[in-house]
Amino acid sequence: MKRLCIHTITTKPWELETAFEKYSEAGIKGVTVWQDALQTSGLSRTRTLLAGSGLDVVAYCRGGFFPHTGQSGREQAIENNKKMLDEAAAIQAPMLVLVCGAAVGQSLETSRDQIKKGIEVLLPRAEENKVSLAIEPLHPMYADTRSAINSLAMANDFAEYFDSQWIGVAIDVYHVWWEPELRQEIMRCGKNNNLLAFHICDWKVPTVDMLLDRGIIGEGCIPIQKISEWVDEAGFTGYREVEIFSKLYWEQEQDRFLEKIVTAYKKHYPLDIDT
Ligand code: ZN
Repeated sequence: MKRLCIHTITTKPWELETAFEKYSEAGIKGVTVWQDALQTSGLSRTRTLLAGSGLDVVAYCRGGFFPHTGQSGREQAIENNKKMLDEAAAIQAPMLVLVCGAAVGQSLETSRDQIKKGIEVLLPRAEENKVSLAIEPLHPMYADTRSAINSLAMANDFAEYFDSQWIGVAIDVYHVWWEPELRQEIMRCGKNNNLLAFHICDWKVPTVDMLLDRGIIGEGCIPIQKISEWVDEAGFTGYREVEIFSKLYWEQEQDRFLEKIVTAYKKHYPLDIDT
């Protein structure tokens, strides 16, 4: 499976050493590392583990959260993002994914201005570290506290505003599958060289938790194959990153869960299988 990547948060109960071993054993080639897991394992140990794993580091998750009603909160966010850019460089991750943030107590417009300013301040560090910033638009249900960037069109606008090779977009099917102009916006993203990452999971029906009830591919209502085709058509040749937050699956045996993910992936992407 040349293009399958797993986010470490997907198998949250596993510490990194176990996760890397299990992914490699399962024939997975890429990994996206989350900061909480890296902090538990320690930066230098994570580097060593990654070097020995043979896995490609696809991305580092997740920076952002720029908006705050108070200045000290905004400054702290910048510092944390700079640190994350350094950590990303240390583990040779080519990009830092940004969940841009939103703050209760101020308008979405104000939050968007703060996001813009935050990215502006970070860009030189991104360039210096050779780590791209990938803006991930989030579903509007998260516009209260997680992100004021709520459509792919808006993420495209942001990326194009900066016009830097160190900024682009991470497309996650969970957040954008409902968009009426999705195909058009994916093409626009690719055409402007802003399509940096592609995240997959499914939207369960009914979804019982807004954050922690994501499904395995094929388990829900997202037309993942169709969106994948559009993403490829837009010129994307990178990894398909499985990112699942799920209370249900985290309570189950992770070996079995990973097996289900791999089986679903093979079924949906038969062309990606080495024969
Ligand atoms: Zn994502």
